[in-house]
Amino acid sequence: MRTLEWAQPMMNRQQTASDMIGEGNLRPQTLLENYLSVALNLRKCSVMTVPAEFPDAEAVAMAIDLACISDYQELAAEKDIKKKTKLIQKFKQRLREAYQEEVRKSSSYTSHIKWTNRLDLRVFEVEVRPTVRELFIYTAKDVENKLDELSASRTLIREQFLRSLRKPMPRSAVVYPEEYFPDYVFRVAELLGYPKCCIEAYIEGRREGYVLAEDRASRQIRTGRAQGLAPEPYAYFVKDFIPCVPSCANAAAVGHRFFEEFGQFDKGLQESYSQCLKTNVANVESYIERIAAHKEKMKAQAQELGIMTM
Ligand SMILES: [Zn+2]
Repeated sequence: MRTLEWAQPMMNRQQTASDMIGEGNLRPQTLLENYLSVALNLRKCSVMTVPAEFPDAEAVAMAIDLACISDYQELAAEKDIKKKTKLIQKFKQRLREAYQEEVRKSSSYTSHIKWTNRLDLRVFEVEVRPTVRELFIYTAKDVENKLDELSASRTLIREQFLRSLRKPMPRSAVVYPEEYFPDYVFRVAELLGYPKCCIEAYIEGRREGYVLAEDRASRQIRTGRAQGLAPEPYAYFVKDFIPCVPSCANAAAVGHRFFEEFGQFDKGLQESYSQCLKTNVANVESYIERIAAHKEKMKAQAQELGIMTM
């Protein structure tokens, strides 16, 4: 059993906490919700998407685009289908290489390595797309075995999905087909420490004709507010987690525990975590607008590149 909390003398904990608060290359969410929660055994595992969740994500994405532009132009100009298929593979490989080069030299990535080492955490990397990775943060060997299994099921799901792809699907299903496989979602969410009631509500949402949980959650907060009910911030205990209802007692209990334990580690972290909770609520509440804005952005980008959108 890991005892980071007690193995570190108080002086060290204070230093760690003040370094966390002063860390400029990573978000407080990442440090507290993704790293410290796992280091303190509050949950077995966390996940983050990179480079998106790094503060320097935009600069990294631009550098990757720049590095690959000539390959993209070559691909766009090719009319022969056979040659094009080959060029797509080459382009993907180029994107992968550019990702490795650009992410690894970014200051956020350097800080990510520094902090995971300092807190004695391990990282399991999964490629979602050539330029997008999910980083699962964990400590125990049994979690690593589960991540191995999950990663293998995910590969199978993706292969099956691609073979069965006939009818048009929502974009989220094309990018993350595994989200529509309840057993997979349940196992991942359980590993991330999400309450059962919330996982079930999320899966239901994915089943019911693509009414996204994100959309449902955003509306729940608005409906509550219209009736004079503010959402319970502790229920939004980590970024992108969606409680079954804005007042879910099981989710709020997890948030309270995080708050208490971060405070045990160092009092100074509680204020920082309170801010995280507020940001998490605001993120869920604004899903509707953010999804719409994202769609607009994708459309504009596609038009710029001369690609027809669905
Ligand atoms: Zn719940």
